[in-house]
Amino acid sequence: MTAKLTPMQEQYQRLKQQHPEALLFFRLGDFYELFGEDAEIAAPILDVQLTTRDKVTPMCGVPYHAVDQYLRKLVEKGFTIAIAEQMEDPRFAKGLVEREIIRVVSPGTFVDEADDKPTRFAVLYVTKRDWALVIAELATGSVYFTEQRVNARMATWIQEEWERWHPQEYLTNWETDILLAGKAVSDGSWFNKILSPRDLEQFLAQRFKTAGLRTFGLVEHPTAQAALFVLWRYLTDLEHREPVHLTNILWFHPGQQMAVSARTLNQLHVLSNDGPSLLSILDKTLTPMGSRLLAAWLERPLTCQSQILLRQQAIKWFMTRLAVRKQVRERLQILGDLSKKVSRVALGMATPKDLVAIAKTLATSLDIYQMVQDMPPDLLPVLPPLDVISDILLRLRVLKEDVPNKWDEGNIIQEGVDAQIDRLRSIITNQREALAALEQDEKDRSGIKTLKVGYHRTFGYYLEVSRGQTHKVPEDWRRRQTMANAERYTSDALLDLERTILEALDRVKTLEYERGRELLLLVQTHSEPLNQLARWLATLDVYSAVAEVAVMRSYTFPEWQDGSTRDMEITGLRHPILETLTPHFVPTSVTLPEDLRVMLITGPNMGGKSTFMRALALNVIMAHIGAPVACEYLRLPVFSGVYARIGADDDIYRGQSTFMVEMEEMAWILRQSDRESLVILDELGRGTSTFDGMAIAQAVVERLATPSAPLTLFATHYHELTQLADSHPRMVNFTVEVIHDPKTGQLVFTHRIISGAASRSYGVEVAELAGFPKTLLTRARHLLTMWEEQTQELTQPVQQVTWFRPDPLGQELLDALRLLELDDLSPREAWLWLQDWRERV
Ligand code: ADP
Repeated sequence: MTAKLTPMQEQYQRLKQQHPEALLFFRLGDFYELFGEDAEIAAPILDVQLTTRDKVTPMCGVPYHAVDQYLRKLVEKGFTIAIAEQMEDPRFAKGLVEREIIRVVSPGTFVDEADDKPTRFAVLYVTKRDWALVIAELATGSVYFTEQRVNARMATWIQEEWERWHPQEYLTNWETDILLAGKAVSDGSWFNKILSPRDLEQFLAQRFKTAGLRTFGLVEHPTAQAALFVLWRYLTDLEHREPVHLTNILWFHPGQQMAVSARTLNQLHVLSNDGPSLLSILDKTLTPMGSRLLAAWLERPLTCQSQILLRQQAIKWFMTRLAVRKQVRERLQILGDLSKKVSRVALGMATPKDLVAIAKTLATSLDIYQMVQDMPPDLLPVLPPLDVISDILLRLRVLKEDVPNKWDEGNIIQEGVDAQIDRLRSIITNQREALAALEQDEKDRSGIKTLKVGYHRTFGYYLEVSRGQTHKVPEDWRRRQTMANAERYTSDALLDLERTILEALDRVKTLEYERGRELLLLVQTHSEPLNQLARWLATLDVYSAVAEVAVMRSYTFPEWQDGSTRDMEITGLRHPILETLTPHFVPTSVTLPEDLRVMLITGPNMGGKSTFMRALALNVIMAHIGAPVACEYLRLPVFSGVYARIGADDDIYRGQSTFMVEMEEMAWILRQSDRESLVILDELGRGTSTFDGMAIAQAVVERLATPSAPLTLFATHYHELTQLADSHPRMVNFTVEVIHDPKTGQLVFTHRIISGAASRSYGVEVAELAGFPKTLLTRARHLLTMWEEQTQELTQPVQQVTWFRPDPLGQELLDALRLLELDDLSPREAWLWLQDWRERV
């Protein structure tokens, strides 16, 4: 027999059933409480005590005012949390306090003030014909979308985009074996509720009234529209309100950005948070909006030359105008995070202080606008109509400068704005004076000199008399409260005054609250132009910041190759991060001719191979975001992607062997890269035995030394591979300069990359530099000589690779291959051709 539930338990059960998948935070006074299984799951994660009230049900709780930090801990572990609030003031509730779920917090939709990394929620919708990916950033009000045809490249594109955006949570109807990172929303029925195309357009048109679907390029994309609809409905359900601030809708094209995987970005230290990164060097932005935008630029460098040149022009504009740059940056410094504030308004999280901050930002923006009026307008994103901004600003100016953090405390609206508020405030002031007069009157009447009028939240106004004086209290006073050393009384006159004051206070707070709500609504309905302004400001911030760094560090703008020319000229190349840490960085200059495909770099450990390759990759990425580069001179073609395979220090955590990871990554690079890519391989094959490693390294180099292969920088300590250059014209040997210092008799690595091959690995010399004992070094030298003699024959690389046996079928295949018109061939036809031949051989 089950025990009868109390009314509160019934209420709890009802709320729990509304979101069975979520942990329920049940508001009880100053705490959110969790019960039963929820409490058992959450307590260890939140590091709070698990208790029980009725000796049966486990429970735990967290204080309501610090709830965000607890929510963060749970969403980071992938949990979803439903928040049940008290819908009425418990002091005035008759019976059980009414409670409702006011929002649901999940990993992909959690927004908190402290965090600068946006959480992202994705919807991936796949139909027979198309697929659409929509990514929402709730904290900034941005939505990115794309729609593409279903085809063979689809899975790769989706994986790449996934790595780039790394959404914390997603909803999809895609049936696939591919593992997508993040939390999947298990309920797939959202896709059954999609409206018919006409209703869909109408639905979205209503949401984006001002701009309209055409502005966002949504009109011809029904699948993206449907995904957006699912997103909208899902978020509405979660937040218990429409996500009206999602107005910054931007199209992205998977092919139009440079392919740089998250892993490559990590290995090159482009964005990493711990330790210096390219981002930390370039990030002289002054607003969080700018900082986020710069990170987004680095995550997705451009491949469209005209877009790159536009950014270059804008940065150059700031580089050549020191005074304007300084002025603008002084203003940016005080700007704050407009997009986040607008989002807070839409999410119902905004405080009066947020609105005052928005007002300040708008005023500053208008100043900045004046300063950059000479800038060619096409260098900046579209600015919203300025009269709209001035109008919002004017209306927000009714707020006091020094507002409290809460809406129900009053003191929000300036004097002289609302006659009624002013009148009530003067009543309150007058009554307070009357209170002082009353205190004096009662003192005189009773002769109690220490009499004091005071106020208590529950008991209201009182007259306080110290214990020794109570015998003087007049008869018409009534006792209200007994204290340790005093008694508190009230009188009719005091009660009268109290009523008038409290009524006026209550009324004025309500009026101010209403005014505040009007302003919140004003901001909310203008999310679109405000977000547009935020984008404009963020872009200016990035331009001026990069210009600042460029001047400080003597960066220069790269020159771009026209059309299909792909040679590179590199003069005075520096590593943008290392040069800030090393007092004497040695720049390198090399010319890479058009037909060069593999730059094989041999030389001693610690010689500077890795540094050079990283430096080149980082500069190529900088160039592709439109920034100037850490070079004296750089001429380069547009690269379609950058792929790096360097070290593997973080892989032990993933439970895979280093060598396996290395091979997987190499396989992926071979599959993904094309002639327009840049590939950086550092010490490939190091993770296995010498012969294994060298065999793999040689096979990879041979494959990459073909005309259609990417430009590859290949650093290796297998100096035997240098002989390959003799038979592979597209491969050139480079090495790090090693000088023999006759005075000390020691070797000196200059860190300069020069053409030529290293004759040996200098391993023993490096050990000597590191301070190995002399006797040990002698033994090592002896062993080395012995082994080199023994293995010389074995390690000669195979010079010629015979692909086809000289039989008739082989000859036929070669002829057929020569006659193949590659330009007219579709991928499908190529596949069929291959299949046909495979059956024959
Ligand atoms: P390798 O890859 O050949 O083993 P690294 O590129 O890792 O060598 O360089 C080893 C160290 O030498 C770096 O950590 C850096 O301190 C120094 N170094 C490398 N290149 C330069 C350079 N161009 N200028 C100054 N120091 C350099």
